[in-house]
Formats: sequence, C-alpha cells, structure tokens
Amino acid sequence: MIFSLEDAPKFFITMVQRDNNYIKYFGKIDKEFPIKTDWIAYLIDGSKFIAGTFTEVNSENFSATFQTEDKINLLTENKQYPALDCYWGDRARLVLDEKRKWQKIYFKSTDADKFKLNGAIGLQQVGNELPDGAERIGLVKEGWDHEHCYICWQTISETEVNNEFGFVDENNNWVCQECYSEFIEKKSLGFINY
Ligand SMILES: [Zn+2]
Repeated sequence: MIFSLEDAPKFFITMVQRDNNYIKYFGKIDKEFPIKTDWIAYLIDGSKFIAGTFTEVNSENFSATFQTEDKINLLTENKQYPALDCYWGDRARLVLDEKRKWQKIYFKSTDADKFKLNGAIGLQQVGNELPDGAERIGLVKEGWDHEHCYICWQTISETEVNNEFGFVDENNNWVCQECYSEFIEKKSLGFINY
C-alpha cells in the first residue's frame, strides 16, 4: 500500500479557543487510529503544517485537544484534518511544499571544524555555527565528506556511485536522487510506513 494523507489519522475540530500564548483546538480523534496524549504532531491543511501537541485525549469518547503556538495558519471548526507525528510530518512537509526550490548539486567535500562537547568529538562544516557549548579544537581538511538523504538516510558523497550528487533545498536539506524522483517530484508520501 502506498501511503497518502487519506490514510493518516484524522482530527475533527469542534471548537477553537484562543488565549495569549496558544490556540486550543477541541475535537474528536479517529476511532480507527487512536491518538495518544502528548503526541507531538502536525495537523495538515493542504500544504500548511501546523505543529502542536495532542493533550487531554479521552479514549472513551474519543475527544482530544490539539494545542499549538501557530497563530498564523488557522484551522476551522467542523472540519477534519489529517495528522502526522513529527518525524514523518517533517518529511512530508518537505515533499508537499510547492514553494521549495530544489537544485541538483554534486557533492564536494569541504573543510570541517573539529569540536569538543561534553567529552565527545564532533565535526561541523566550516561556515556553520558550532552547537551550544562546543569548543573548537581544530580544522579537518575536506573533513565534511558526506551528507545524508533527509528521507531515507542514504549517504551522498563523492565516493558513492550514483549518489555522488543529490538535490538540495534552500535550507540545505539533502535528498538522494531516488527519493527526489519517487517522492519530491511526484509529491508522494510513499516513504511513510506506519
Ligand atoms: Zn533517499
């Protein structure tokens, strides 16, 4: 089966409540795909992804609350929205975003900053900020020698036959050529498996 948003659990909004910090959507969860309390998820409205948390899930009457800080993308009462957890939701957002610009780029190793953080050694591509609290301890020539596909985690590097190039968006997310043609081009969520 190829996954689509039709197959995702649904949340039917019955009431909207706003306060200074949050919007709370009260509603009903899908009986066939019970959502659990504290599920960090997205509600999806076309290509808009609204991040939040399901709280107060009542498994007897299937009522729940979805709490979000997103006050820009408003959802409406008496409408049903598909929900995805944050892992698959992040990937689905990449695939369904029509405004995102993708460029085919041959991977080229670049220098990396070597750093120490909590006793562990790490590398960061030169030009990017080190993680909080990291101490820079040196430079590794051409140390940034691969990227991973955001969807399937395939390695993209100069030494990977057929994956010596990838597709890169404006936020430096890399996708391998197979995921690009299977999912991004086709706007397909076929990589999701629940
Ligand atoms: Zn991939």
